[in-house]
Amino acid sequence: MIRVIALIIIQALLHLTTTATTTAFTFTTLSSTMSTTPVEDTEWGLAQIPSQLPNDRNLVEEEQEEEAVEVAIIGGGLAGLAMAIGLTRANIPCKVFERAPQLRSNSQGILALQPNGMRALENIHPDLPDMIVQAGCEREELVITTIQADGSQQDTIKKTGLEIMQKYGRKKVGLTWHKMQQLLASLLPDGVVVTSRSLVSFQDNEHEVILHLVDNHHHSTTNGPKRTRVRAKVALACDGVFSAARRQMFPDNNNDAPLYFGQLNWATVIDTDKLPPNVHPPSAVHYFVHEGQPRWMSMLNDGGSGQTFWQFRVADPEMALSLSRNKGRGGLGLPGVKETLIPVAQSSCPLVAEAIACIPENQIFERSIVGRRPAATWLSQPHGRLALVGDSAHGMHPNIAQGANSSFESAAAAVTAMAEEYQKSGNNLQEVDWPAALRTYQERRKPKADKVQRWANMMGCSQATGLVDVPKEEMAKMMDWILGGDPENHPSQETMDIIFAFDPSSHPGVSEIL
Ligand SMILES: Cc1cc2nc3c(=O)[nH]c(=O)nc-3n(C[C@H](O)[C@H](O)[C@H](O)COP(=O)(O)OP(=O)(O)OC[C@H]3O[C@@H](n4cnc5c(N)ncnc54)[C@H](O)[C@@H]3O)c2cc1C
Repeated sequence: MIRVIALIIIQALLHLTTTATTTAFTFTTLSSTMSTTPVEDTEWGLAQIPSQLPNDRNLVEEEQEEEAVEVAIIGGGLAGLAMAIGLTRANIPCKVFERAPQLRSNSQGILALQPNGMRALENIHPDLPDMIVQAGCEREELVITTIQADGSQQDTIKKTGLEIMQKYGRKKVGLTWHKMQQLLASLLPDGVVVTSRSLVSFQDNEHEVILHLVDNHHHSTTNGPKRTRVRAKVALACDGVFSAARRQMFPDNNNDAPLYFGQLNWATVIDTDKLPPNVHPPSAVHYFVHEGQPRWMSMLNDGGSGQTFWQFRVADPEMALSLSRNKGRGGLGLPGVKETLIPVAQSSCPLVAEAIACIPENQIFERSIVGRRPAATWLSQPHGRLALVGDSAHGMHPNIAQGANSSFESAAAAVTAMAEEYQKSGNNLQEVDWPAALRTYQERRKPKADKVQRWANMMGCSQATGLVDVPKEEMAKMMDWILGGDPENHPSQETMDIIFAFDPSSHPGVSEIL
């Protein structure tokens, strides 16, 4: 075992972001938590377990509307909207069915858009990278404040913007989640996104997919929630880490349940002028790590547009659970959050404590950190007319900031494969072999996505201990490979073997959400 805490942090900030805290509540607690969390209170769609599946037969009998589309996209999050933009540009008609009643107008989190994600977005629409740079904050500098157990502090400052630009041709950009969603939606024609449509189940038939959708937000007293049937030639399930489509594909969970990493996170986005001065230099990521007990990490990052992203994580399962203001269930604006977190920070870093004191409690979002193991397949059985894209396919621990970036890579790969198949048909929708396109997508994209997902999960688990089995040079190679650096610089087979041998569920505090 090599102690590489500092390196993890530097990696996490050169190339990565986000944090987490560890807890030890059971998956049963977590499930009940999440299923009761209102959709509007969730962030990144990760705290959304689909409600109990209704009896399919009743559902089919009660369907009140039927619609036919060429391509159905389930979920209007980041992957779903990116897919819709790409398909629309390729003249392939599609429609997005999103569970929430509307797209988000605020968020408590920020995404770090990295070179691989930006490259994928550029393939989807050439204007997207510039739009993101304008809406967000290009990251120029990284400041790491390390606080030792004896209270001594050391600052490490790196000019990361230039370094990353020279290496990958693009800087990292921080952008709030809802702005990213709005920006993607702004590139779609009216009517492509339909809200308040939640996938309950699907049928993978020889010539079409049938989707059974329910509108949980509009109930009629006589008929209950409106139920809709959509017939599509092909469907892309971009319905997030708790994907209803994936749950149907692996009915008994079959070693395929979502994972709770035993970590909790507190975060918000706030106007910088409401915080103490100098919490971060302009265009900088300021990362604080407390090496003593309890281990905690915090971030105060420039989020652009005069806003700052704050995040706090305690790397001890028991401690995190004890700090939760909702028995580990998470939620927005939990009473008492500030009162609990401030003393933890105060004893080791008064600046972080002071920042927390300035944040209105009703803006602090507490969340549990969840992800998936690689799926055995991304394609539905028996006819392969539905494929998983984004977090539904490869939801991962957020520690390496690759969830959305990987989702954009998957969306771009799926769009390319579908556009190629459409061209092969002579642009004749009647003749397109959609299952062949989805097979191509999976063949090209899944090997890399699986490795990134395993790596993210392994690095995420290591946050609790600061211990990683991979030498630091290999860690750097891994990130370089993920971001699209020198292909000759691939990590060794030995490193890959370690990554593939790692089983998150053997890690303390990690449990399956059944
Ligand atoms: C703390 C944290 C920090 C993160 N930071 C980063 C970062 O810095 N960089 C990065 O790249 N990634 C980051 N991520 C990950 C990123 O947010 C996700 O990977 C990304 O949002 C995945 O996009 P998606 O479209 O697949 O899923 P989501 O964004 O979750 O979207 C899924 C959509 O599907 C909808 N939906 C769900 N179920 C249904 C249904 N049954 N029917 C219809 N619609 C449905 C949801 O309402 C949602 O709109 C972070 C995640 C967390 C938790």
